[in-house]
Amino acid sequence: MTSHSTPLPGSKSFWQHDYGHYVPNPALTQNLKVDVAIIGAGFTGLNTAWQFLKDNPSARVAVLEADVVGFGASGRNAGFSTRMFGLEPELVLLRWGRQKLIEAHQYLEKAVAHTRSLIEDNGLDADYRHNGLVRISYSAQQANRLKKTYQLFQDLGIDSGMSWQEPARVRQDFHSERFNSAIYEAGTGYLNPCKQVRALKGLAQSAGAMIFEMTPVTHIERTAAALLLTTPAGKVSADKLVVATNAYSRQVPDTRRLQTRQFPLWTYQVVTERLSEPQWESIGWRERQSFGDNRQMLHYFRPTVDGRIVMGGGDAIVYRQAPTDEQPSPMSWEHCEAHLKWIYPQLRDVRIDYRWGGPVSVNADMVPEIGFVGDERIIYSGGCFGHGVALTHLNGRTIADLLNGRKTELTDFWIVNRQSIGMTSDTLSYLAGRTARQALKAWDWWEERHLRGR
Ligand SMILES: Cc1cc2nc3c(=O)[nH]c(=O)nc-3n(C[C@H](O)[C@H](O)[C@H](O)COP(=O)(O)OP(=O)(O)OC[C@H]3O[C@@H](n4cnc5c(N)ncnc54)[C@H](O)[C@@H]3O)c2cc1C
Repeated sequence: MTSHSTPLPGSKSFWQHDYGHYVPNPALTQNLKVDVAIIGAGFTGLNTAWQFLKDNPSARVAVLEADVVGFGASGRNAGFSTRMFGLEPELVLLRWGRQKLIEAHQYLEKAVAHTRSLIEDNGLDADYRHNGLVRISYSAQQANRLKKTYQLFQDLGIDSGMSWQEPARVRQDFHSERFNSAIYEAGTGYLNPCKQVRALKGLAQSAGAMIFEMTPVTHIERTAAALLLTTPAGKVSADKLVVATNAYSRQVPDTRRLQTRQFPLWTYQVVTERLSEPQWESIGWRERQSFGDNRQMLHYFRPTVDGRIVMGGGDAIVYRQAPTDEQPSPMSWEHCEAHLKWIYPQLRDVRIDYRWGGPVSVNADMVPEIGFVGDERIIYSGGCFGHGVALTHLNGRTIADLLNGRKTELTDFWIVNRQSIGMTSDTLSYLAGRTARQALKAWDWWEERHLRGR
């Protein structure tokens, strides 16, 4: 049975809605001179501000956010703090080779540990649970592919904490006839993204960051002496600039090189009402892990600490409109609900309480990047796909090292200042995105053709 609750007007995600009353900081209404300006108050921008100020306590750092802290992907995501990187490990291997795949895995391993200790050491209230991830398959073809992925991890020696599980064990643990084999992966977790991003705001402010909300940067000018940023009611003159706008980077003014670096892809989620104890009993899932399947259009699902299930993915849509405009997709929400109830017919009467979506940042060459733009005064970070939670936390440390002009183990990571492929034409990016989506959906249809009607 499909229920029909809609997102509340003005609420962007379940997490933002559930957070309750939030009072944003005032907008910038004066002219400022700072050492570092940061555009965007998501995980990237706030982690960068905090890390840089830890190194330079007397520095002047301003974070300029067009909407409110966590308006973007950081306040909307599913909260998986995972070691996933790029689109698929096999694609990273094909395009970048073994060594870079290993290094990416190690960076992400560090990122997950860094995110966890940042939360624990600073007592952040983000509902973090270090419960692990299950990479699941449904069909025999998907199971074969997943096994090859597992063997690849083993061959490369990046399988620590992972174990292969046959269907009987998976079904015993999770009470779903739909599940085939799986990789159980310890050592990863999930969090409440909106609580986390707003806790990071507090952390950055406690170190001295000036955070201005409802302050869109509308113009950037580069002079020999400084970088000059215009906002509706104040100007900022900065020695250095970090552009932490991720999926919104095509709209960042006056940086053509940036606008062509990535495009936004929308992904959608739903959350159920709280399940009762008997409902949880009926589906097993005792360890409350997070899940990702190995479809091309992956689904991701996880429990919340108050006993709901968040289900997302299964499709990704590229739009021509700016990603700041909300893009409702009833078809995607229905798909998420139907998929959850296909996995768990036991939950067929469970109500969907909330539906939302958000844009992820996708690069033409399918891996993230951090890099200088033009000269070493401007640093950009983007292309995190749907795997940016842990990544952006560690990227904040990496960007702080770049701002300090230090060469470190982190700045040596190969995504830093890599050559990326630009996408100069909006129309071509749009058409390429649509074509790729159709191809990936066809792939899933083929691999799941025997499951339909089951
Ligand atoms: C629905 C969804 C589910 C996801 N699930 C996961 C997951 O489970 N695990 C995972 O690892 N990753 C996930 N991701 C990806 C992850 O959320 C992102 O990679 C990460 O949050 C990016 O953080 P960010 O700070 O770089 O960007 P954002 O959080 O998007 O922040 C960018 C900010 O820049 C601001 N901005 C833009 N333009 C301007 C301007 N001109 N002036 C001022 N401010 C501006 C925006 O308002 C925005 O707040 C998901 C993403 C989405 C959308």
